[in-house]
Amino acid sequence: MTGAILRLASWIVPRGRRADWLAEWRAELHYVARVDHAGAAGFTRGAFRDALWLRRHDPHPREPLFASPVRTLAALAVLAAVAGICRPAPRLPKDVIAIRSHGSPLSLTYDEYRILEAHRPEGIEAVAFYRKLSKRAVATRSMDAVLRGHALPGVSGGYSVADDFGPGPGYVIARFSTTGNLPWWHITIPSPDGGHELLDCVPLNPGQRVLAVLFIFGVAVIILPALTTFSPGAPVRGHRAWMFFAAKLGLGMTAVYFASAALAEPGLTAFGLLVGFFLVVRWALEDQRRRCPICLRYLASPVSFGCLGHILLDWHGSEFICPEGHGLLQVSASPASPYAPQHWVRL
Ligand SMILES: [Zn+2]
Repeated sequence: MTGAILRLASWIVPRGRRADWLAEWRAELHYVARVDHAGAAGFTRGAFRDALWLRRHDPHPREPLFASPVRTLAALAVLAAVAGICRPAPRLPKDVIAIRSHGSPLSLTYDEYRILEAHRPEGIEAVAFYRKLSKRAVATRSMDAVLRGHALPGVSGGYSVADDFGPGPGYVIARFSTTGNLPWWHITIPSPDGGHELLDCVPLNPGQRVLAVLFIFGVAVIILPALTTFSPGAPVRGHRAWMFFAAKLGLGMTAVYFASAALAEPGLTAFGLLVGFFLVVRWALEDQRRRCPICLRYLASPVSFGCLGHILLDWHGSEFICPEGHGLLQVSASPASPYAPQHWVRL
């Protein structure tokens, strides 16, 4: 067991020093286990702290994942693809609708369903009635034609078929034959007293409309300046930098769009989209501010200059350098400084 813990901790240690580190810890553990067998497990836990210290002070650290622009876009593309593959399948096809009474209650009686079935509008392919019974439901035979293998909404235990339903309320769902948008919002059926009854058609899977998604993106962009600087930074110049910025935004937003589909409620999906878009735009701006405007690589080796007392008379902040040697980025430490928040110095 202690050997497995040591092996696990060794993965944190930089690869070049891993074998020596593991041999040393094994030797020490062997000695500790001989002297105090019960304390060996506690001793092994210290290996994680030691391994983390070595990782943090690695003189030749591995390049971060997002260091190069190609790797950044590749990682975002993989993220978007995984989110797209893993997104849950829509629970119902788009051409399945609920038919409800206009106003409340939302349910219909079995007699109303039979009148609807007898006066079925031309666009409706199949219509079915069901009634919930705790976890299961009973439904008319036409339910199979409406659902075509999909699950009945709001019923976890499936449904059984019945022929007679008697009085009492139930729910009606239907499948319409035209593709695309819902053909009508309301339909009328004859009522038993000789008049007409108005029924509502409600899509059960409205999907996400492009305009609604764009609207949420717009809201995310509007609230952004309240929480972060909107500027993509002094270094961003040229088509290449802007194209990279746009690609980051596009891929990040695609990942958020797919991921938000996992949220069950439409309200939650909209909120998830808003938060996700906000975080993506904010990350894309902050990431862009820390890149070389020429090669778009992540700036490295931060060095701190000056101290807080230099705010008025001298510059105080950090300097980052492009790994390819294109220039230096000076980032002011305080917004109160008379110097620009970011200044790019070409070498
Ligand atoms: Zn560069």
